[in-house]
Amino acid sequence: MTVLSGPSGVGKSTVVAELRRRSPEIWISVSVTTRSPRPGEVDGREYHFVDDREFDRMAAAGELLERAEFAGNKYGTPREPVRRQLEHGVPTLLEIDIAGARQVRQAVKGDALFVFLKPPSWAELVRRLTARGTEPPEVVERRLAVAREELAAASEFDVTLVNTSVQEVCRQMVTLINSDQ
Ligand code: 5GP
Repeated sequence: MTVLSGPSGVGKSTVVAELRRRSPEIWISVSVTTRSPRPGEVDGREYHFVDDREFDRMAAAGELLERAEFAGNKYGTPREPVRRQLEHGVPTLLEIDIAGARQVRQAVKGDALFVFLKPPSWAELVRRLTARGTEPPEVVERRLAVAREELAAASEFDVTLVNTSVQEVCRQMVTLINSDQ
């Protein structure tokens, strides 16, 4: 199993969307979230969009491998689908935030490769977080504050990739995911 993490706005979801397109042999975990869909997002593809009550039910029932709150919303990885893919030896990718990656590390005890995606520079991260234009300013501010702390977590990861180009990061991810099998 490979876990891709890094600050919000670094381009993790763009990398994952490209991997989904060009490497269908990789199974990508679909998280549950209480946040509303962004334009273009499809329920069941990027996320399972659930309400607070359903999220809390899943958490209480132990159905989530890890979970985190991020910028006022809840996110979690459904446990059972991941277990099933791993049981069948399918290359499996999780794209989650740093708090979630730490929980997975506790849960799998070294049985995963942890990859940190870093922006080329802080200025570039600010530009990306601001340019998305889909969030109100106070949400962007909160995400920047979290991102500043999260950048410091790179040293906890097995590999750090710099997001200079989506294509290049995808190539590196495919190599890493395959070498982890
Ligand atoms: P976004 O709302 O921009 O799609 O995601 C916000 C943050 O939540 C990103 O850093 C993303 O990686 C993270 N995230 C997405 N799904 C999960 C999940 O299942 N668990 C955790 N811990 N973080 C997640």
